[in-house]
Amino acid sequence: MSITRREFFRLCSTLALAGCTGRGSDYTDEDREHLHRQQVTESLRSGSGPFGPMVFAGYRDLARLTYFRLTDDGRLAVATDLPPVIDCHTHLGWSYFLAPDVDLLRATPRTQYLLDCDAQAPPCELDLDVYVNSNFTESMLNSLRWETIRTLLLGGQAASTHTIPNLVTEMDLLRIQSAAVLPIAVTLPFSSDPTLHQLEAIERAKVSHRLIPFASVHPGDRHGTAKLRDYANRGVRGLKLHPEMQRFYPDSDEAMSIYAECRRLQLPVIFHAGRSGIEPEFLRPYALIRRLKRAVQEFRDVAFIFGHAGARDSEEAAALARQNDNVWLELSSQGLTRIYELYRDLGSSKLLYGSDWPFYPQAVALAKVLLVTDHDEQARQRILGGNALEVLRITPAA
Ligand SMILES: [Zn+2]
Repeated sequence: MSITRREFFRLCSTLALAGCTGRGSDYTDEDREHLHRQQVTESLRSGSGPFGPMVFAGYRDLARLTYFRLTDDGRLAVATDLPPVIDCHTHLGWSYFLAPDVDLLRATPRTQYLLDCDAQAPPCELDLDVYVNSNFTESMLNSLRWETIRTLLLGGQAASTHTIPNLVTEMDLLRIQSAAVLPIAVTLPFSSDPTLHQLEAIERAKVSHRLIPFASVHPGDRHGTAKLRDYANRGVRGLKLHPEMQRFYPDSDEAMSIYAECRRLQLPVIFHAGRSGIEPEFLRPYALIRRLKRAVQEFRDVAFIFGHAGARDSEEAAALARQNDNVWLELSSQGLTRIYELYRDLGSSKLLYGSDWPFYPQAVALAKVLLVTDHDEQARQRILGGNALEVLRITPAA
């Protein structure tokens, strides 16, 4: 099912009414131009980096890389020795507003990724050397947008496959030891608390040794800090904030009080950071990297993880990571050459493996990290899991 651009924006504006913070935007023509330049340059440069062209026929075709094989039922599995792997960026099925809660304990035969390359025949082309969402056609992006809205309003078909058993099965095949699961608290009415829903499911599924629960609060929620204390008591290991989806400026005073509570509770904060280039333009002002500076500089003893390594604003994100000891970059979605540049310029101690499952299979970002660290075992160990142990303050299992 597809919707027109105009219908999509109308629905978005309706949804957006719920979370306005009322602070002015400073989004400029230069910001617009910068995003456009990144998109054009990246597509022109694809295939000319140190790894040459890296184009696959969908996700399953990644089995052509020596790191992977296909199982008898056609799933990607790891075929090489790996150090302990922690995926720092996954989500379980979302349900908000009028949507029924997703049964997070139900296994389904197939995970329907939000950008589902292998669902069509022939599968869509997967170029590892561009920001991952550049791989998708306008009609695929349309169905993603529709699926997002349907999930927010009514519950989605895809969301019902984003369950704990499906995630853990994929982790087992790829020898991923644990994964941080990130809820997102939105301000839609009638919505159940996504942090509690997720915590309870992880407990009932008895997978606390595999899934690392994060919390989410909305900075505009006047009970936000109290909720955060309660979540910390129940065992969350960090806080997820999504300035675009939650429609708040991360340098606002409300957000500052949330970071202050994170400092008291010793919780790292992971932001959706930077512009993905596929969101509606009115959300982009919330995602700019310069809005993250105040948090990073005023809370030097809070660990800040920039999701997607700053997405299409990765240069600004890398500059902040270089200047500040309390900033790490989580690599999901970045293209292969960009991950190589970050590794070359920042070293391996600042980078964290993350997949953004169930938007994409966990193997996509894993393949890129393996390619970049092919001759550097120590960097591989740090990026795939060693750094995450430190940042998330996890004691490795004996
Ligand atoms: Zn995500």
